[in-house]
Amino acid sequence: MRQCRDDRSGLSSQGSDRSSVCTLHAMGGYRSLRERMRRSERRTPESMAQRERSRVSTKASALSRDCITGMTRVRVLGTMSEPKPRICNFNAGPAALPLAALERARDELVDFEGSGMSIMEHSHRGRAYERVHEEAKSLLAKLLGLSPDWEVLLVQGGASMAFATIPMNLLPAGRSADYVVTGTWGEKAVAEAKAVAALGGGSVRIAGTTLTNKTYVRVPAPAELSLDPNAAYLHCTSNETIHGVQYAVSDATPLAAGANASVPVIVDMSSDILARSVDTSSFSLIYAGAQKNLGPSGVTVVAIRKELVARGRTDLPTIFQFRTHAANASLYNTPPTFGIYLMRNVLSWLDAEGGVAVIEQRNCAKASLLYRAIDESGGFYTCPVEPSCRSIMNVVWRLAKPELDDAFVSEAEARGLVGLRGHRSVGGMRASLYNAVEPAWVEQLTSFMKDFSARRG
Ligand code: PMP
Repeated sequence: MRQCRDDRSGLSSQGSDRSSVCTLHAMGGYRSLRERMRRSERRTPESMAQRERSRVSTKASALSRDCITGMTRVRVLGTMSEPKPRICNFNAGPAALPLAALERARDELVDFEGSGMSIMEHSHRGRAYERVHEEAKSLLAKLLGLSPDWEVLLVQGGASMAFATIPMNLLPAGRSADYVVTGTWGEKAVAEAKAVAALGGGSVRIAGTTLTNKTYVRVPAPAELSLDPNAAYLHCTSNETIHGVQYAVSDATPLAAGANASVPVIVDMSSDILARSVDTSSFSLIYAGAQKNLGPSGVTVVAIRKELVARGRTDLPTIFQFRTHAANASLYNTPPTFGIYLMRNVLSWLDAEGGVAVIEQRNCAKASLLYRAIDESGGFYTCPVEPSCRSIMNVVWRLAKPELDDAFVSEAEARGLVGLRGHRSVGGMRASLYNAVEPAWVEQLTSFMKDFSARRG
Protein backbone atom coordinates (compact mmCIF):
# COMPACT_ATOMS: atom_id res chain seq x y z
CA MET A 1 0.00 0.00 0.00
CA ARG A 2 1.15 3.52 -0.77
CA GLN A 3 2.63 5.57 2.00
CA CYS A 4 3.27 9.29 2.07
CA ARG A 5 6.83 9.02 0.79
CA ASP A 6 9.54 11.23 2.08
CA ASP A 7 12.39 9.93 -0.05
CA ARG A 8 13.48 11.90 -3.05
CA SER A 9 14.57 9.05 -5.28
CA GLY A 10 12.66 10.00 -8.37
CA LEU A 11 15.01 8.46 -10.88
CA SER A 12 16.11 5.55 -8.75
CA SER A 13 13.38 3.30 -10.11
CA GLN A 14 15.33 3.12 -13.35
CA GLY A 15 17.75 0.66 -11.80
CA SER A 16 15.10 -2.00 -11.45
CA ASP A 17 13.45 -1.35 -14.75
CA ARG A 18 14.22 -3.84 -17.48
CA SER A 19 13.23 -1.83 -20.52
CA SER A 20 14.95 1.35 -19.51
CA VAL A 21 18.56 0.51 -20.16
CA CYS A 22 18.78 2.52 -23.31
CA THR A 23 17.46 5.63 -21.57
CA LEU A 24 20.68 6.07 -19.66
CA HIS A 25 22.83 5.03 -22.58
CA ALA A 26 21.02 7.47 -24.77
CA MET A 27 21.56 10.23 -22.25
CA GLY A 28 25.22 9.34 -21.88
CA GLY A 29 25.62 9.35 -25.64
CA TYR A 30 23.99 12.71 -25.88
CA ARG A 31 26.19 14.13 -23.14
CA SER A 32 29.40 12.95 -24.75
CA LEU A 33 28.31 14.42 -28.06
CA ARG A 34 27.76 17.74 -26.35
CA GLU A 35 31.16 17.39 -24.67
CA ARG A 36 32.89 16.98 -28.03
CA MET A 37 31.02 19.93 -29.47
CA ARG A 38 31.97 22.01 -26.47
CA ARG A 39 35.66 21.22 -26.84
CA SER A 40 35.68 22.09 -30.51
CA GLU A 41 33.78 25.32 -29.90
CA ARG A 42 35.61 28.65 -29.47
CA ARG A 43 34.89 29.78 -25.91
CA THR A 44 33.83 33.39 -26.28
CA PRO A 45 31.92 35.10 -23.39
CA GLU A 46 28.82 35.17 -25.65
CA SER A 47 28.98 31.48 -26.36
CA MET A 48 29.49 30.71 -22.65
CA ALA A 49 26.42 32.78 -21.70
CA GLN A 50 24.35 31.24 -24.46
CA ARG A 51 25.43 27.80 -23.35
CA GLU A 52 24.38 28.51 -19.78
CA ARG A 53 20.98 29.82 -20.92
CA SER A 54 20.27 26.71 -22.95
CA ARG A 55 21.70 24.27 -20.40
CA VAL A 56 18.48 23.68 -18.53
CA SER A 57 16.26 23.36 -21.56
CA THR A 58 18.76 21.08 -23.30
CA LYS A 59 18.86 18.86 -20.26
CA ALA A 60 15.09 18.75 -19.97
CA SER A 61 14.55 17.90 -23.60
CA ALA A 62 17.28 15.29 -23.89
CA LEU A 63 15.05 12.43 -22.87
CA SER A 64 12.19 13.29 -25.13
CA ARG A 65 14.52 13.86 -28.07
CA ASP A 66 15.83 10.36 -27.64
CA CYS A 67 12.30 9.07 -27.37
CA ILE A 68 11.01 10.53 -30.58
CA THR A 69 13.78 9.11 -32.77
CA GLY A 70 11.85 5.86 -32.87
CA MET A 71 15.21 4.09 -33.36
CA THR A 72 15.13 2.53 -29.95
CA ARG A 73 12.33 1.74 -27.55
CA VAL A 74 12.82 4.18 -24.74
CA ARG A 75 10.64 4.70 -21.75
CA VAL A 76 10.76 7.98 -19.88
CA LEU A 77 11.02 7.07 -16.25
CA GLY A 78 11.44 10.41 -14.61
CA THR A 79 12.21 14.00 -15.31
CA MET A 80 15.67 15.46 -15.13
CA SER A 81 14.80 17.39 -11.99
CA GLU A 82 14.05 15.46 -8.82
CA PRO A 83 10.30 14.96 -8.32
CA LYS A 84 8.66 16.07 -5.10
CA PRO A 85 7.61 13.27 -2.79
CA ARG A 86 3.92 12.26 -2.94
CA ILE A 87 1.94 14.68 -0.90
CA CYS A 88 -1.04 13.93 1.38
CA ASN A 89 -3.72 15.21 -0.99
CA PHE A 90 -7.18 15.88 0.45
CA ASN A 91 -8.51 17.83 -2.55
CA ALA A 92 -12.22 17.55 -3.26
CA GLY A 93 -11.80 16.95 -6.98
CA PRO A 94 -9.76 16.72 -9.06
CA ALA A 95 -8.36 14.61 -6.28
CA ALA A 96 -5.71 12.08 -5.35
CA LEU A 97 -5.31 9.21 -7.79
CA PRO A 98 -3.92 5.80 -6.86
CA LEU A 99 -0.16 5.81 -7.27
CA ALA A 100 -0.34 2.43 -9.02
CA ALA A 101 -2.64 3.91 -11.68
CA LEU A 102 -0.29 6.84 -12.25
CA GLU A 103 2.79 4.65 -12.38
CA ARG A 104 1.14 2.39 -14.91
CA ALA A 105 0.32 5.45 -17.01
CA ARG A 106 3.92 6.64 -16.70
CA ASP A 107 5.26 3.26 -17.76
CA GLU A 108 2.90 3.05 -20.73
CA LEU A 109 2.92 6.70 -21.68
CA VAL A 110 5.35 6.88 -24.59
CA ASP A 111 4.90 3.37 -25.90
CA PHE A 112 1.53 1.82 -25.26
CA GLU A 113 1.75 -1.98 -25.31
CA GLY A 114 4.59 -2.01 -27.80
CA SER A 115 2.67 -0.03 -30.41
CA GLY A 116 5.34 2.67 -30.71
CA MET A 117 2.93 5.43 -29.72
CA SER A 118 1.03 6.58 -26.70
CA ILE A 119 -2.60 5.67 -26.10
CA MET A 120 -3.44 9.34 -26.74
CA GLU A 121 -2.16 8.98 -30.30
CA HIS A 122 -4.23 5.89 -31.09
CA SER A 123 -7.42 6.21 -33.07
CA HIS A 124 -10.54 5.85 -30.97
CA ARG A 125 -11.71 3.44 -33.68
CA GLY A 126 -8.60 1.26 -33.44
CA ARG A 127 -8.28 -2.07 -31.62
CA ALA A 128 -5.76 -0.83 -29.02
CA TYR A 129 -7.99 1.95 -27.74
CA GLU A 130 -11.21 -0.03 -28.08
CA ARG A 131 -9.81 -2.69 -25.74
CA VAL A 132 -9.09 -0.04 -23.11
CA HIS A 133 -12.52 1.52 -23.61
CA GLU A 134 -14.32 -1.80 -23.21
CA GLU A 135 -12.22 -2.74 -20.19
CA ALA A 136 -13.08 0.56 -18.47
CA LYS A 137 -16.79 0.02 -19.09
CA SER A 138 -16.82 -3.61 -18.02
CA LEU A 139 -14.82 -2.85 -14.86
CA LEU A 140 -17.33 -0.15 -14.01
CA ALA A 141 -20.25 -2.53 -14.51
CA LYS A 142 -18.54 -5.20 -12.45
CA LEU A 143 -17.53 -2.94 -9.57
CA LEU A 144 -20.94 -1.26 -9.46
CA GLY A 145 -22.62 -4.67 -9.53
CA LEU A 146 -24.77 -3.78 -12.55
CA SER A 147 -26.94 -6.42 -14.16
CA PRO A 148 -26.93 -6.86 -17.97
CA ASP A 149 -29.97 -4.64 -18.32
CA TRP A 150 -27.78 -1.61 -17.69
CA GLU A 151 -25.71 0.42 -20.14
CA VAL A 152 -22.54 2.15 -19.05
CA LEU A 153 -22.10 5.39 -20.99
CA LEU A 154 -18.90 7.41 -20.98
CA VAL A 155 -19.73 10.97 -21.93
CA GLN A 156 -18.39 14.50 -21.44
CA GLY A 157 -19.55 17.74 -19.87
CA GLY A 158 -19.19 16.66 -16.24
CA ALA A 159 -21.98 15.87 -13.82
CA SER A 160 -23.13 19.46 -14.44
CA MET A 161 -24.03 18.58 -18.00
CA ALA A 162 -25.88 15.51 -16.74
CA PHE A 163 -27.96 17.87 -14.56
CA ALA A 164 -29.37 19.06 -17.91
CA THR A 165 -29.23 15.94 -20.09
CA ILE A 166 -31.16 13.85 -17.55
CA PRO A 167 -34.31 16.01 -17.67
CA MET A 168 -33.80 16.61 -21.39
CA ASN A 169 -34.04 12.88 -21.98
CA LEU A 170 -36.33 11.76 -19.20
CA LEU A 171 -38.73 14.56 -18.35
CA PRO A 172 -41.37 14.65 -21.10
CA ALA A 173 -43.90 17.44 -21.59
CA GLY A 174 -46.73 17.23 -19.11
CA ARG A 175 -44.77 15.12 -16.60
CA SER A 176 -43.15 16.12 -13.32
CA ALA A 177 -39.86 15.04 -11.74
CA ASP A 178 -39.17 14.82 -7.98
CA TYR A 179 -35.95 16.17 -6.51
CA VAL A 180 -34.69 15.65 -2.97
CA VAL A 181 -32.17 18.34 -2.03
CA THR A 182 -29.53 17.83 0.64
CA GLY A 183 -26.87 20.32 -0.46
CA THR A 184 -25.50 22.63 -3.14
CA TRP A 185 -25.22 19.99 -5.85
CA GLY A 186 -28.85 19.01 -5.44
CA GLU A 187 -29.76 22.68 -5.74
CA LYS A 188 -27.80 22.95 -8.96
CA ALA A 189 -29.46 19.83 -10.35
CA VAL A 190 -32.87 21.37 -9.60
CA ALA A 191 -31.94 24.66 -11.26
CA GLU A 192 -30.92 22.91 -14.47
CA ALA A 193 -33.99 20.66 -14.43
CA LYS A 194 -36.21 23.72 -14.06
CA ALA A 195 -34.54 25.37 -17.05
CA VAL A 196 -35.08 22.24 -19.13
CA ALA A 197 -38.65 21.86 -17.91
CA ALA A 198 -39.42 25.45 -18.90
CA LEU A 199 -38.31 24.66 -22.45
CA GLY A 200 -39.74 21.17 -22.69
CA GLY A 201 -43.11 21.50 -21.00
CA GLY A 202 -42.37 19.39 -17.92
CA SER A 203 -42.21 20.48 -14.30
CA VAL A 204 -39.98 19.97 -11.27
CA ARG A 205 -41.12 19.32 -7.68
CA ILE A 206 -39.03 19.52 -4.55
CA ALA A 207 -39.99 16.27 -2.86
CA GLY A 208 -37.86 17.11 0.15
CA THR A 209 -35.14 19.49 1.26
CA THR A 210 -33.14 19.77 4.44
CA LEU A 211 -32.13 23.39 3.91
CA THR A 212 -32.11 25.03 7.35
CA ASN A 213 -30.45 28.33 8.27
CA LYS A 214 -29.03 28.52 4.75
CA THR A 215 -27.14 25.25 5.14
CA TYR A 216 -27.52 21.48 5.07
CA VAL A 217 -26.50 19.19 7.91
CA ARG A 218 -28.57 16.06 7.27
CA VAL A 219 -30.63 13.98 4.86
CA PRO A 220 -34.42 13.97 5.27
CA ALA A 221 -36.28 11.50 7.44
CA PRO A 222 -38.74 9.37 5.44
CA ALA A 223 -41.73 11.19 6.93
CA GLU A 224 -40.43 14.52 5.62
CA LEU A 225 -40.63 13.47 1.99
CA SER A 226 -43.61 14.12 -0.21
CA LEU A 227 -43.09 11.73 -3.10
CA ASP A 228 -45.17 11.84 -6.26
CA PRO A 229 -46.16 8.27 -7.22
CA ASN A 230 -46.47 9.43 -10.84
CA ALA A 231 -43.18 11.26 -11.06
CA ALA A 232 -41.14 10.77 -14.23
CA TYR A 233 -38.22 10.07 -11.88
CA LEU A 234 -36.90 10.80 -8.42
CA HIS A 235 -33.50 12.49 -8.22
CA CYS A 236 -31.18 12.66 -5.23
CA THR A 237 -27.51 13.22 -4.43
CA SER A 238 -26.03 10.33 -2.49
CA ASN A 239 -23.17 12.45 -1.12
CA GLU A 240 -23.09 16.23 -0.97
CA THR A 241 -19.45 17.08 -1.54
CA ILE A 242 -19.54 20.62 -0.14
CA HIS A 243 -21.68 20.04 2.94
CA GLY A 244 -20.30 16.60 3.80
CA VAL A 245 -23.81 15.11 3.99
CA GLN A 246 -24.32 11.54 2.82
CA TYR A 247 -27.15 9.04 2.94
CA ALA A 248 -26.16 6.26 5.32
CA VAL A 249 -24.55 3.21 3.84
CA SER A 250 -27.61 1.09 4.49
CA ASP A 251 -29.91 3.82 3.23
CA ALA A 252 -28.20 5.21 0.16
CA THR A 253 -31.18 7.16 -1.20
CA PRO A 254 -34.77 8.10 -0.37
CA LEU A 255 -35.80 4.86 -2.04
CA ALA A 256 -35.28 3.13 1.28
CA ALA A 257 -37.63 5.76 2.68
CA GLY A 258 -40.54 4.38 0.72
CA ALA A 259 -40.28 5.73 -2.81
CA ASN A 260 -42.71 4.13 -5.22
CA ALA A 261 -40.88 1.27 -6.90
CA SER A 262 -42.35 2.24 -10.28
CA VAL A 263 -40.64 5.64 -10.16
CA PRO A 264 -37.10 5.42 -11.53
CA VAL A 265 -34.53 6.58 -8.98
CA ILE A 266 -31.68 8.68 -10.35
CA VAL A 267 -28.63 9.26 -8.18
CA ASP A 268 -25.82 11.77 -8.52
CA MET A 269 -22.96 9.68 -7.11
CA SER A 270 -20.20 12.03 -8.23
CA SER A 271 -18.44 12.05 -4.90
CA ASP A 272 -19.08 8.57 -3.52
CA ILE A 273 -19.30 6.26 -6.51
CA LEU A 274 -17.49 2.99 -5.77
CA ALA A 275 -16.65 4.15 -2.25
CA ARG A 276 -19.08 1.76 -0.61
CA SER A 277 -21.30 -1.15 -1.54
CA VAL A 278 -24.66 0.04 -2.72
CA ASP A 279 -27.51 -2.13 -3.94
CA THR A 280 -27.85 -0.72 -7.45
CA SER A 281 -30.86 -2.92 -8.22
CA SER A 282 -33.15 -0.24 -6.79
CA PHE A 283 -31.76 2.51 -9.05
CA SER A 284 -32.36 3.33 -12.70
CA LEU A 285 -29.61 5.82 -13.44
CA ILE A 286 -26.35 6.58 -11.64
CA TYR A 287 -24.05 9.33 -12.80
CA ALA A 288 -20.74 10.79 -11.72
CA GLY A 289 -17.97 13.07 -12.89
CA ALA A 290 -14.78 11.01 -12.83
CA GLN A 291 -12.50 13.39 -10.98
CA LYS A 292 -13.02 12.09 -7.46
CA ASN A 293 -13.11 8.31 -7.28
CA LEU A 294 -12.76 7.27 -10.90
CA GLY A 295 -9.95 9.13 -12.62
CA PRO A 296 -9.12 12.53 -14.06
CA SER A 297 -11.65 15.19 -14.95
CA GLY A 298 -13.11 15.12 -18.45
CA VAL A 299 -14.97 11.82 -18.29
CA THR A 300 -18.53 11.49 -17.02
CA VAL A 301 -20.09 8.14 -16.25
CA VAL A 302 -23.81 7.67 -16.86
CA ALA A 303 -24.94 4.15 -15.95
CA ILE A 304 -28.53 3.76 -17.07
CA ARG A 305 -31.06 0.98 -17.40
CA LYS A 306 -31.68 0.04 -21.03
CA GLU A 307 -35.43 0.53 -20.70
CA LEU A 308 -34.80 4.13 -19.57
CA VAL A 309 -32.56 4.72 -22.58
CA ALA A 310 -35.40 3.56 -24.80
CA ARG A 311 -37.85 5.86 -23.06
CA GLY A 312 -35.73 8.96 -23.71
CA ARG A 313 -36.99 11.78 -25.92
CA THR A 314 -36.17 11.39 -29.59
CA ASP A 315 -36.52 15.04 -30.57
CA LEU A 316 -33.27 16.21 -28.98
CA PRO A 317 -30.07 16.96 -30.86
CA THR A 318 -28.36 13.59 -31.40
CA ILE A 319 -25.42 14.29 -29.13
CA PHE A 320 -27.68 14.90 -26.11
CA GLN A 321 -29.67 11.68 -26.45
CA PHE A 322 -28.52 8.87 -24.19
CA ARG A 323 -29.59 6.42 -26.90
CA THR A 324 -26.94 7.81 -29.24
CA HIS A 325 -24.18 6.94 -26.82
CA ALA A 326 -25.75 3.59 -25.92
CA ALA A 327 -26.14 2.61 -29.59
CA ASN A 328 -22.53 3.54 -30.33
CA ALA A 329 -20.82 2.03 -27.27
CA SER A 330 -19.90 5.59 -26.18
CA LEU A 331 -17.91 5.99 -29.41
CA TYR A 332 -20.39 8.13 -31.31
CA ASN A 333 -17.88 10.95 -31.40
CA THR A 334 -14.30 11.16 -30.17
CA PRO A 335 -14.27 10.30 -26.47
CA PRO A 336 -11.71 11.71 -24.00
CA THR A 337 -9.42 8.76 -24.67
CA PHE A 338 -6.65 9.55 -22.21
CA GLY A 339 -9.11 10.19 -19.39
CA ILE A 340 -10.85 6.90 -20.08
CA TYR A 341 -7.50 5.13 -20.25
CA LEU A 342 -6.57 6.54 -16.82
CA MET A 343 -9.98 5.59 -15.48
CA ARG A 344 -9.28 2.05 -16.68
CA ASN A 345 -6.05 2.12 -14.65
CA VAL A 346 -7.87 3.38 -11.55
CA LEU A 347 -10.61 0.77 -11.86
CA SER A 348 -8.21 -2.09 -12.37
CA TRP A 349 -6.30 -0.90 -9.31
CA LEU A 350 -9.54 -0.94 -7.30
CA ASP A 351 -10.41 -4.39 -8.60
CA ALA A 352 -6.98 -5.69 -7.65
CA GLU A 353 -7.29 -4.17 -4.17
CA GLY A 354 -10.32 -6.39 -3.60
CA GLY A 355 -13.09 -4.21 -4.99
CA VAL A 356 -15.68 -2.03 -3.33
CA ALA A 357 -16.21 -4.13 -0.19
CA VAL A 358 -12.53 -3.83 0.72
CA ILE A 359 -12.26 -0.14 -0.10
CA GLU A 360 -15.43 0.55 1.89
CA GLN A 361 -13.84 -0.84 5.04
CA ARG A 362 -10.76 1.28 4.43
CA ASN A 363 -12.90 4.36 3.75
CA CYS A 364 -14.99 3.86 6.89
CA ALA A 365 -11.86 3.44 9.00
CA LYS A 366 -10.33 6.64 7.58
CA ALA A 367 -13.50 8.61 8.17
CA SER A 368 -14.04 7.38 11.71
CA LEU A 369 -10.45 8.21 12.62
CA LEU A 370 -10.97 11.78 11.45
CA TYR A 371 -14.43 12.21 13.02
CA ARG A 372 -13.01 10.90 16.29
CA ALA A 373 -10.23 13.49 16.18
CA ILE A 374 -12.88 16.19 15.67
CA ASP A 375 -15.28 14.91 18.31
CA GLU A 376 -12.56 14.36 20.89
CA SER A 377 -11.02 17.80 20.49
CA GLY A 378 -12.99 19.28 23.34
CA GLY A 379 -14.80 21.68 21.03
CA PHE A 380 -11.65 23.03 19.33
CA TYR A 381 -12.97 21.40 16.13
CA THR A 382 -16.64 20.80 15.43
CA CYS A 383 -18.44 18.95 12.66
CA PRO A 384 -21.77 20.59 11.80
CA VAL A 385 -23.23 17.46 10.19
CA GLU A 386 -25.56 15.20 12.16
CA PRO A 387 -23.67 12.01 13.07
CA SER A 388 -25.96 9.64 11.14
CA CYS A 389 -25.51 11.68 7.93
CA ARG A 390 -21.78 12.30 8.08
CA SER A 391 -20.00 11.62 4.84
CA ILE A 392 -17.25 9.03 4.69
CA MET A 393 -15.87 10.84 1.63
CA ASN A 394 -15.94 14.55 2.49
CA VAL A 395 -15.38 15.28 6.16
CA VAL A 396 -16.16 18.90 7.03
CA TRP A 397 -15.33 20.67 10.25
CA ARG A 398 -14.83 24.11 11.70
CA LEU A 399 -12.37 25.58 14.13
CA ALA A 400 -13.96 27.14 17.20
CA LYS A 401 -11.68 30.12 16.50
CA PRO A 402 -12.11 30.84 12.76
CA GLU A 403 -9.30 33.38 13.03
CA LEU A 404 -7.00 30.35 13.19
CA ASP A 405 -8.21 28.96 9.84
CA ASP A 406 -5.33 30.43 7.84
CA ALA A 407 -2.71 29.23 10.33
CA PHE A 408 -4.28 25.76 10.31
CA VAL A 409 -4.14 25.55 6.53
CA SER A 410 -0.63 26.91 6.17
CA GLU A 411 0.85 24.79 8.97
CA ALA A 412 -0.85 21.73 7.48
CA GLU A 413 0.60 22.54 4.07
CA ALA A 414 4.04 22.90 5.58
CA ARG A 415 3.65 19.30 6.75
CA GLY A 416 2.60 18.08 3.32
CA LEU A 417 -1.15 17.98 4.08
CA VAL A 418 -2.89 19.83 1.25
CA GLY A 419 -6.42 20.58 0.07
CA LEU A 420 -7.96 21.14 3.50
CA ARG A 421 -9.75 24.44 3.06
CA GLY A 422 -13.54 24.06 2.96
CA HIS A 423 -15.49 25.09 -0.12
CA ARG A 424 -15.56 28.86 -0.47
CA SER A 425 -19.34 28.90 -0.09
CA VAL A 426 -19.29 27.35 3.41
CA GLY A 427 -15.80 28.06 4.79
CA GLY A 428 -14.18 25.95 7.51
CA MET A 429 -12.19 22.84 6.67
CA ARG A 430 -12.82 19.79 4.56
CA ALA A 431 -10.79 16.65 3.98
CA SER A 432 -11.86 14.53 1.03
CA LEU A 433 -11.08 10.90 1.76
CA TYR A 434 -11.65 9.34 -1.65
CA ASN A 435 -10.57 5.79 -2.42
CA ALA A 436 -7.02 6.77 -3.32
CA VAL A 437 -6.41 8.62 -0.06
CA GLU A 438 -4.12 6.51 2.07
CA PRO A 439 -5.03 5.68 5.67
CA ALA A 440 -1.53 6.86 6.61
CA TRP A 441 -2.35 10.33 5.30
CA VAL A 442 -5.37 10.51 7.58
CA GLU A 443 -3.22 9.41 10.50
CA GLN A 444 -0.80 12.22 9.69
CA LEU A 445 -3.70 14.67 9.45
CA THR A 446 -5.22 13.66 12.79
CA SER A 447 -1.89 13.82 14.58
CA PHE A 448 -1.32 17.31 13.11
CA MET A 449 -4.82 18.32 14.27
CA LYS A 450 -4.10 17.13 17.80
CA ASP A 451 -0.79 18.92 17.84
CA PHE A 452 -2.33 22.12 16.46
CA SER A 453 -5.15 22.17 19.02
CA ALA A 454 -2.70 21.46 21.86
CA ARG A 455 -0.59 24.45 20.82
CA ARG A 456 -3.40 26.84 19.88
CA GLY A 457 -6.27 25.71 22.08
N1 PMP B 1 -22.39 16.64 -8.21
C1 PMP B 1 -21.57 16.52 -7.15
C2 PMP B 1 -22.04 15.74 -5.96
C3 PMP B 1 -20.31 17.11 -7.17
O1 PMP B 1 -19.50 17.00 -6.13
C4 PMP B 1 -19.90 17.82 -8.32
C5 PMP B 1 -18.54 18.46 -8.44
N2 PMP B 1 -17.84 18.67 -7.33
C6 PMP B 1 -20.80 17.95 -9.37
C7 PMP B 1 -22.03 17.32 -9.29
C8 PMP B 1 -20.44 18.71 -10.62
O2 PMP B 1 -19.50 17.96 -11.29
P1 PMP B 1 -18.71 18.48 -12.57
O3 PMP B 1 -17.72 19.49 -12.08
O4 PMP B 1 -18.10 17.23 -13.10
O5 PMP B 1 -19.68 19.07 -13.50
